[in-house]
Amino acid sequence: MTSERGIHTAIYPDDAPIGDAYLTHEAVRTVLERQDNRCAGCSAPLDARSTYFDLRQPAICGGPHTLGNLEALCPSCHWKHIRRIRERFADHRNK
Ligand SMILES: [Zn+2]
Repeated sequence: MTSERGIHTAIYPDDAPIGDAYLTHEAVRTVLERQDNRCAGCSAPLDARSTYFDLRQPAICGGPHTLGNLEALCPSCHWKHIRRIRERFADHRNK
């Protein structure tokens, strides 16, 4: 049985594009390996079932859809991240 892609690269450059709608299995694994399976916010060990992937700099603020801008977060850091973005975005609109 052959792979659909045929290419297997262990290391992805930081500017490798990631999909808009979903993350590839490889992208997920690359980010988790880079972070040693720990949350980028609080360093808590990540559970595969409750890991959230976020763009460090959100697309709404001009963040690129690249691996280098992607981070894995635990649920509580994920919600903090979302709230921070909402606040930042609200600030932008008020100015
Ligand atoms: Zn965390």
